[in-house]
Amino acid sequence: MSNENVMNVSEIFSSIQGEGPNIGRFSTFIRLYGCNLSCSWCDSKHAINGKEFKVMSIEEIASEVYSQGLHSVVITGGEPTIYPNLIDLLIELVKNENIENIEIETNGYNICGLAEQIVEHNLWPFVSFDFNISPKEQTEQYYHNENNILELLSDPELQDVGHFNLKFVIEEKNIGANMDNVLSFLDEIMIDHVSNIYLMAEGFTQEDTVKNTKKLIQYVQEKELTDFLIAPRLHTLLWGNERKK
Ligand code: SF4
Repeated sequence: MSNENVMNVSEIFSSIQGEGPNIGRFSTFIRLYGCNLSCSWCDSKHAINGKEFKVMSIEEIASEVYSQGLHSVVITGGEPTIYPNLIDLLIELVKNENIENIEIETNGYNICGLAEQIVEHNLWPFVSFDFNISPKEQTEQYYHNENNILELLSDPELQDVGHFNLKFVIEEKNIGANMDNVLSFLDEIMIDHVSNIYLMAEGFTQEDTVKNTKKLIQYVQEKELTDFLIAPRLHTLLWGNERKK
């Protein structure tokens, strides 16, 4: 098994999608291990720390996904686009006619490069792709990711590949500063190419999520920023920080 053919997999499981345009849809989740960032409020720390993962070939991953029998696949992490062979996994997954939709949840690390590869391999006519991009404000990596996302959303050649959704996680203690950064980020991009723009309050527990989401809604109303969609973080509301949910 060559290294090019394997990925570090934190977990594969089926559940409902808890956020974004496919909220409520039964999906099989592939959680890849590792991330280029280290956000303090990360709710997937088991996928970035502790080296708890299984090394699997692309074919083994696809086979486990097929065995779950669902039409929708969510590739998440960690950060999926740190894997140069992510495109090989997509090529393998679209071979199965049962799969209709693939969502990629990313902080934007190499999303532009991935979209270019999807075009190059002509994958997008076979399944619908949703790119759920959540830019993070972190050290120098933020600027790298930001430029990558801006490049993606400014390239008309890439706009047919799928739906681009932006999600900004808003910290409870920094709502005003976070929102200022969101607004200046959105000033830079071709917003016509974005299908949905979500704000999601941070929260590890049901209680915190409810409290922080209410506070965020109040801020958005007071500032008359009501064109944003508030993402509820449904999986946390239902299961808190339980794994494989
Ligand atoms: S980018 Fe996402 S997966 Fe990576 S540390 Fe931040 S919240 Fe966690």
